[in-house]
Amino acid sequence: MNPSELRPESVVVAAGRPPREPDAPLSTPIVLTAPFHASDENRYSRHHGTETVRSFEQAVGALEGGEAVAFSSGVAGVAAVAEGQPTGTVAVVPSAAYSGSIAIFDEQERLGRMVLRRVDVADTAAVVAAVRDADLVWLETVTNPLMGVVDLPTVIGQAHAAGATVCVDSTFSTPLVARPLQYGADLVLHSVTKYLGGHSDIVMGVLVAGSPDRAEALRNRRGLTGGMPGALESYLALRGVRTLAVRMERAQANAGELARRLAAHPAVTRVRYPGLPDDPGHELAARLHDGFGAVISFEVAGTAEYAESVCTRVELVTHATSLGGVESLIERRARHSMDAEHGTPPTLLRLSVGIEHVEDLWADLSQALS
Ligand SMILES: *Cc1c(COP(=O)(O)O)cnc(C)c1O
Repeated sequence: MNPSELRPESVVVAAGRPPREPDAPLSTPIVLTAPFHASDENRYSRHHGTETVRSFEQAVGALEGGEAVAFSSGVAGVAAVAEGQPTGTVAVVPSAAYSGSIAIFDEQERLGRMVLRRVDVADTAAVVAAVRDADLVWLETVTNPLMGVVDLPTVIGQAHAAGATVCVDSTFSTPLVARPLQYGADLVLHSVTKYLGGHSDIVMGVLVAGSPDRAEALRNRRGLTGGMPGALESYLALRGVRTLAVRMERAQANAGELARRLAAHPAVTRVRYPGLPDDPGHELAARLHDGFGAVISFEVAGTAEYAESVCTRVELVTHATSLGGVESLIERRARHSMDAEHGTPPTLLRLSVGIEHVEDLWADLSQALS
């Protein structure tokens, strides 16, 4: 069956399998090799990968509706895009976003390779004003950690009218919630470390290109700079993808319930979650996404020390950076100097909601907040 005829919940299970032939394995083997026996192509794993990597790429490509190129980490994907741009590139980048992406663009500016225009990418008018004469526009579907929702069709339309390439970091959304290529994006990035892997046990990334030319350019860059992921990581990532739909279903249901309860809690002053009807991003997310994701940011009343103490009091939820795993994680983002510099409120806690029972999560958060 052609994966493009299936719904995403079936694609995650069916895509990226070995061919259905008698005695063929159902699951992709973990192929551990650097060279292959010589042929006209003269294969070598840094350049050509293995069938384990390609199976993962097929699954993600089918989910996003493009051609996937896997990388050894999410930031290796960001670097492949940034460093593949010619010197003199004018790039519109988020003023607040995933800190690793910002660090890569900041370095490009410091090296004199790029001119940056930093904007709040959830402010549609501001991005549209900034894209004139731009070469590259970097977006996040939902901004990290303030949870602003980006108006992808409007911004991508304007960026293309200006002749810019648009790359959308869709890590927070996953292909179950948002498919930016449908809105015309040229490239989509995922930190596979997060939801696609889903178990907080690997570091890996993937870029999905809307055209074969862009995919080929990324594969060349990956071979050139050594960004190929390992076979074991690729296997675990594909295994994670198999359960992506059910994990997202539970995590999003949990997140919706916890966001409502947090919003009514006396120790919480503000909740940022696009699923709440009064959230500034609600209307856009309801219109453009299939769901509201499972990351909640909320501010607590009191000091940064109190916010930090909430993170040390949780017992089921884990105090750690990262997101997108089966286990719930919490963190005070302003503890990272770069987030603090980019205006993250000092008492903002980012909660990545996992797939535990919602009542156990609520009991834990309530005791930690009191
Ligand atoms: C984690 C993350 C990245 C970077 O991915 P790594 O796999 O850690 O290199 C990029 N973007 C977002 C939104 C992330 O959360």
